[in-house]
Amino acid sequence: CGITGYIGHEDAKEILLKGLEKLEYRGYDSAGIAVMNESDVQVFKEKGRMAKLREVVDEKIIAQVGIGHTRWATHGVPSQENAHPHQSALGRFTLVHNGVIENYTELQQQYLQDVTFLSDTDTEVIVQLIAMFSEEGLETIEAFRKTLTLLKGSYAIAMLDQATPDTIFVAKNKSPLLLGVGEGFHVVASDAMAMLHVTDSFIELMDQEIVIVKNDQHTIQTLAGATVTRQPYQAAFDA
Ligand code: GLU
Repeated sequence: CGITGYIGHEDAKEILLKGLEKLEYRGYDSAGIAVMNESDVQVFKEKGRMAKLREVVDEKIIAQVGIGHTRWATHGVPSQENAHPHQSALGRFTLVHNGVIENYTELQQQYLQDVTFLSDTDTEVIVQLIAMFSEEGLETIEAFRKTLTLLKGSYAIAMLDQATPDTIFVAKNKSPLLLGVGEGFHVVASDAMAMLHVTDSFIELMDQEIVIVKNDQHTIQTLAGATVTRQPYQAAFDA
């Protein structure tokens, strides 16, 4: 029930794991991270405690981009297959999601009859739709946007695309999500507390906003495509 993301110059996996540990208080039944180095994306996910996830994450991996998730299952039992991140069929897109997609069955029937699903989650429909629209020729940001406009329900989303290793795609509707800003890096988190170990400068995201996040810049847009400018605030440290 929490999301973390990091894009910068440091060891992403450690920042993501530490952030997820800070989100443990929200409750969860499984956890996972994905890290990306050039076009190489590696996913680690486990049912159970964060300590178990730490055990399976390859310590030797060097990556400066990644996303993380603690899951509180709403659709599909707690299991390794249903834990996030979820990937599209060919592994190009990797996505974490908090919230509930109310119309996932309808979307699956309308658009994804031919796709083999790897999980029982409502979430997987999001990443499969993005992959499908991308295969049909849309740029990733447009495939992302088109998919979001079809979703009914709540979401905080962070997504990696193998084809753009310098970018994290982010979106929010009715689930909390913040963008953290630093010198040459950005973070994403459900709660500022999760990332106070790397920055105390955060930008609040509003419902139906998309963010294209790179290490040294970000672009906030409305779902309709208008660019939004919003200044960061300083999060209070109450540790
Ligand atoms: N509905 C999604 C699932 O069941 C996300 C749950 C969450 O917010 O952790 O996998």
